[in-house]
Amino acid sequence: MQTKKYKCKECGCEEFISKPLQYGIFENQDGKLVFIKSESINEQLELFCRECSQKLPFKEEDLIY
Ligand SMILES: [Zn+2]
Repeated sequence: MQTKKYKCKECGCEEFISKPLQYGIFENQDGKLVFIKSESINEQLELFCRECSQKLPFKEEDLIY
């Protein structure tokens, strides 16, 4: 089975930005703000190329948080 790779088909970039906006949850712990997790506002996550904003088609099961 061939190894698949996520890569922008426009520019070859392998970094992607999630949209719509995700917000991080930080919690006060002993006077520090500790990152707990991020939650997306919308249930359907979409990824876009960091360089050229091309939408990346991907499979939900390939997401690793
Ligand atoms: Zn790109």
